[in-house]
Amino acid sequence: MTKKIFRSIILSSMVVLITSLFVASSFLYNYFNKSQVTRLKEELSIVAVNVEKYGEEYFDSFKSSIFRLTLVAHDGVVLYDSKAKANEMENHLDRKEIDQALKTGKGSSARYSETLGKKTFYEAVLLENGNVLRIAINQLTVTALLVIMTPAIFVIVIIALVLALVMANKMAKNIVKPLNELDVENLLENDTYEELAPMLNKIRRQNRKINNQIQELKQKSDEFEQITNAMNEGLVLLNKNGVVVSINDAAKKLFGVDDSFIGRDFLTVDRSINMSKAIKKAMEGKHSELREERDGIEYQFIINRIELEGNTEGVVILSFDITEKAFAERNRKEFTANVSHELKTPLQSIIGSAELLENDLVKPEDTKKFIDNIKKEATRLVSLINDIIDLSQLDENSELNKETVDLYKITKEVVEALTLLAQQKEVEIEVEGESCEIKGIKRYLYEIVYNLCDNAIRYSKKGGKVNVKLKNKGGNIILEVKDNGIGIASEHQSRVFERFYRVDKSHSKETGGTGLGLSIVKNAVAYHGGKIKIDSKVGKGTTITITF
Ligand code: ADP
Repeated sequence: MTKKIFRSIILSSMVVLITSLFVASSFLYNYFNKSQVTRLKEELSIVAVNVEKYGEEYFDSFKSSIFRLTLVAHDGVVLYDSKAKANEMENHLDRKEIDQALKTGKGSSARYSETLGKKTFYEAVLLENGNVLRIAINQLTVTALLVIMTPAIFVIVIIALVLALVMANKMAKNIVKPLNELDVENLLENDTYEELAPMLNKIRRQNRKINNQIQELKQKSDEFEQITNAMNEGLVLLNKNGVVVSINDAAKKLFGVDDSFIGRDFLTVDRSINMSKAIKKAMEGKHSELREERDGIEYQFIINRIELEGNTEGVVILSFDITEKAFAERNRKEFTANVSHELKTPLQSIIGSAELLENDLVKPEDTKKFIDNIKKEATRLVSLINDIIDLSQLDENSELNKETVDLYKITKEVVEALTLLAQQKEVEIEVEGESCEIKGIKRYLYEIVYNLCDNAIRYSKKGGKVNVKLKNKGGNIILEVKDNGIGIASEHQSRVFERFYRVDKSHSKETGGTGLGLSIVKNAVAYHGGKIKIDSKVGKGTTITITF
């Protein structure tokens, strides 16, 4: 701004200076011309007096570089010239000043000489002897005038430049000061140039627009933050250079980082090579997915490219906790394999026995043994299928109509149903307790008591004792099934509730176990919002307590 003002001031000063120099020069030039003519006239009268007095000898003493003296006879012949040889000069009778002097006694003229390229002023006077004395002076040239004026012009230009610089600085500061002091927040309260009013109004409108836009953006970003932070899934936005732009609370927890990682390379957040590869793939425009474990939790990461007008602007990383899903998937696969195996074994046994019988390869006395085996395996198959049906129903977790059931009554029914088994095994079974009403699904509750009592009998030794207790304690119904059988080693205790998990496979099969009893118990108890506790010692017995 100062430079611009300085340039304008210099330019205008120069224009003024040149114009005034031009005007002053032309005045000066005219003035010099007039004073030259006056001086010429005065000099002529002095010279004329001296020539009249001393005759032509005066010319010898006349020495002047400025003036030129010429003596012309009345017939125009040049008698003397201070700058040229008189005899070589042409007749001067036709010269205007000579002619005038001869006629009137005085003459003057000004002529431009092509040969000299100069203008000359002439003054002539008629002497008493009839000759004409002429004096001449060359007009001052513009160049000469400028040469005379140069130092003055130089001084004036310097002064003008210094003045322009000082003024430009001062003016620029004065002009800029109110602009610098502008209160952009309260534009209308500024006391500044009125010429600025339209601009200030425009700025005010722009300010309002920008403020509104900022407000809108802030609102949107707040909304985005609130939504993403409320998400259970992790969400990370990276720009095209792989720098974190946004990271929600779930993702922060997942990667163990905080807000300070925003603006840093994603490699500082997660250094997994597979993740880097997946991000690179997504940046190249290919959707990528990966499954990785972090702190014992299995995550699925979905990485997609963010595209704007065909260009990659970054990627979005979404993470899902799939631990349960993966666990369920593994369980399902394992369960399917186990079911196939469990079904195959009795079926093969049935087919084998049937084929032997069909081909008369069984001795008549063994026929009953083979038919018993077929029956036993078929019974096992039926109970296995029943258990699988129960489990899959429990897995569906469908809402069934609950009814008020007396658990004590159910327990009595179970014990009655198991009396034959208990007798076969020579195990005593007894029930203690009171009527305990519970809201639930009768069939599932029956399964719980049946499986626990069935196990207690089957894993008891000859002469063993099974004690079933039921009590209502502080609103909680407690079912306790205690035996003094073989017991379960501590390392197996947490696993016996897994599907098809048996401590001793042959013993379980021998006693008609399917390996699904306790998993049915676990799921049915969970369905009723209950808890299971196991307390067992090898050789001493097992107590399983269920609290509803
Ligand atoms: P199973 O049909 O084989 O009995 P369960 O799921 O009912 O299957 O039980 C799983 C395993 O837990 C059994 O195979 C057995 O080894 C053990 N078990 C269950 N109950 C008892 C118990 N009362 N005493 C000792 N071992 C038991």
